Amino acid sequence: MKSWIESANTGETDFPVQNLPYGVFSRADEAPRCAVAIGDQVLDLAALEAAGLLSVGASEPVFDRPALNAFMALGLGAWDMARIQLTNLLADGDDPALKDDADLGARALVPMADATMHLPFEVSGYTDFYSGRQHAYNVGVMFRGPENALPPNWLHIPIAYNGRASTVVVSGTDIRRPLGQMKPHGEDAPIFGPSRRLDIELEMGMVVGSPNAMGEPVTVDEADAMIFGFVLLNDWSARDIQAWEYQPLGPFQAKAFATSISPWVVTAAALAPFRTSTPEREHELFPYLRETGPMLYDIELEITMQPEGAAKATTISRTNYKNMYYSPAQQLTHHAIGGCAMNTGDLLGSGTISGPEKDQYGSLLELTWGGKEPLALEGGETRKFIENGDRLTLKGWAQGDGHRIGFGECTGTILPSPEQKDW
Ligand code: MN
Repeated sequence: MKSWIESANTGETDFPVQNLPYGVFSRADEAPRCAVAIGDQVLDLAALEAAGLLSVGASEPVFDRPALNAFMALGLGAWDMARIQLTNLLADGDDPALKDDADLGARALVPMADATMHLPFEVSGYTDFYSGRQHAYNVGVMFRGPENALPPNWLHIPIAYNGRASTVVVSGTDIRRPLGQMKPHGEDAPIFGPSRRLDIELEMGMVVGSPNAMGEPVTVDEADAMIFGFVLLNDWSARDIQAWEYQPLGPFQAKAFATSISPWVVTAAALAPFRTSTPEREHELFPYLRETGPMLYDIELEITMQPEGAAKATTISRTNYKNMYYSPAQQLTHHAIGGCAMNTGDLLGSGTISGPEKDQYGSLLELTWGGKEPLALEGGETRKFIENGDRLTLKGWAQGDGHRIGFGECTGTILPSPEQKDW
């Protein structure tokens, strides 16, 4: 399938007509509103809805808003309606209503280079899982030793902690190095100051579209249908703060200062051809967690790092979402099993995605093995952890036949820590 928008047909673009990810954009002084990405263009859905070319059965417009939540809350039927209409309008030869309307096209199609992207949805809550087995093992070895690496619950429960929705930010937002308490190796007492072991975590973020009521658990199939789509997610982590604070209640300040997501939400529908199965179970799971089909996705992922002033970025890791032990539907089912209400706009991090090989790890903690094996970057610099001015970028795509379902990028640059006050 091709689009009449030529830039969508290159095979290289992240945004062919098979993708149609949703985001929120604005130009200059305009109000932010919903859009899809197509080739090198942003298609204004508020303009299409106003022109009567896009209708999802709601009683009032849903796309002329600064967040996708109203659309996401309509559920799978509305998501499918929108995808069918947008595919017809953008595919070559189907519905000429947009292609032949030069006036509407001039208003509704905006070059991506002219668009400012915003946080695509209002983040209701943020939960971060820990479902990558290689990552959990690597971190366990470093924090507790190889004999206690994988916690005893890990093969039974997709374990997680409740994170902060308030500091989820869109790609491109600069991040300040956090202040906090830490206890350097070999010291008798903790110290206070800027984190010295600042890190990234490469993750996929699941975006919940349809809610479940408090006290009403869902099946894995029901959970699967509640998922609107996915974003790239960088769970920035201060390892020294984490190591000192994490027992017994889990990460707190070490991960509360920022979580970056990519601006485009790639829908579960666009990723359907790339479904794949979770690995064989080492322990049989409880029935409530059993999948009825392939519910994980084959998504290629990579991390690049670029120091301030460096001529080019260095790719420091390549991995794949299919390495996860638990699927997003299993994670969502488990999240709701005790009676927790999941809301439209909930964001669930997959957990760090590390492949089995050393160059497939999803964090600097693992890539440099706790700082013991610095990374060599293009241009001659080396890194144990992130320095001020470093720019970290995540990319991801599902590789189709002649096209790819891409996520764009999730990037952020680290700024110096805040001025210390007269405490
Ligand atoms: Mn994480």
